[in-house]
Amino acid sequence: GNLVSAYVNDAERDAEASVRPKRLEEFIAQHRVREQLDLLLRSAMRRGSPPDHILLSGPPGLGKTTLANIVAAELGSGIRVTSGPAIERSGDLAAILTSLTEGDVLFIDEIHRIAKPAEELLYSAMEDFRVDVIVGKGPGATAIPLDVEPFTLVGATTRSGLLTGPMRDRFGFVAHLDFYSPADLEVLLRRSARILGVPITDDGAAEIAGRSRGTPRIANRLLRRVRDFAEVRADGTVTVETARAALTVYDVDALGLDRLDRAVVSALVDSFRGGPVGLSTLAVAVGEQPDTVEEVCEPFLVRAGLLARTPRGRVATEAAWRHLGRTPPNGTFG
Ligand code: ATP
Repeated sequence: GNLVSAYVNDAERDAEASVRPKRLEEFIAQHRVREQLDLLLRSAMRRGSPPDHILLSGPPGLGKTTLANIVAAELGSGIRVTSGPAIERSGDLAAILTSLTEGDVLFIDEIHRIAKPAEELLYSAMEDFRVDVIVGKGPGATAIPLDVEPFTLVGATTRSGLLTGPMRDRFGFVAHLDFYSPADLEVLLRRSARILGVPITDDGAAEIAGRSRGTPRIANRLLRRVRDFAEVRADGTVTVETARAALTVYDVDALGLDRLDRAVVSALVDSFRGGPVGLSTLAVAVGEQPDTVEEVCEPFLVRAGLLARTPRGRVATEAAWRHLGRTPPNGTFG
């Protein structure tokens, strides 16, 4: 499956949980976001009131869920977790909101996918800490106002541009998480290896970091796969050699592209001769939703210098042709 998306099974989830940072000071990199969050949380605690609502945006696996849990831990508050797609009816959301206790953190993942009526209910809860619950249908329907305890909403989205304006305006703090540099991922990998009790050399960590697609979740997952290899085929130490051999077995290429990334790059080069091609055409060619290609795949491909967005559509860069071991067509790149 896709390395970025859902957990493979419970064992994976437990392995991920064991290395998940619990406090802000353990959270690696993203210094600007950390500093801003630290100020927001400290000032709220001084005032003795819940902090403003927080929106976390960025591609999957960069630490949004982790940060939401950290916010609750730093505040010493409880956390309730749900997601946009899970809230089908506004009644579901009303039930959650009215059961919150004072100061709780409510984490809504994929908040851009929340249904419209629930979204409107959320506005009044965020702004006035009250919701109107509609009872009955048709002309006999009545709105019953209910109080909501002061809480902090932490919303996560893969792209803040997908949120409606009124929704975005109700967040007092918006943090954008960006891909991690290989150097940051090296630090992260050494920390994870220490927690998992896996011996790792510096060049071993560097090798995995460079192939982790800028994403902590992938770095941690590749570390576990290289550890498996090192334990079975070597003396258990993660070195540059065991890392290279293991990542070859697991079909992770030099840039760490996953299956979908590779499909997009190959389609661009092979089916569309490098483009330009429109997003929806490209998405059909790889059998994915345009949203997924745009939000999950493209940010990394652009960052890696393999894909460019132009007014006429997506194009493969010269580096993309070379990455596939192909000769780029002459003259296309000036
Ligand atoms: P999704 O939106 O897909 O749920 P996410 O952005 O919420 O992704 P998390 O689940 O928070 O990602 O992070 C994935 C894993 O990466 C976590 O288990 C955590 O261990 C690790 N991780 C993420 N960010 C950091 C960080 N800054 N420092 C250390 N570990 C991190």
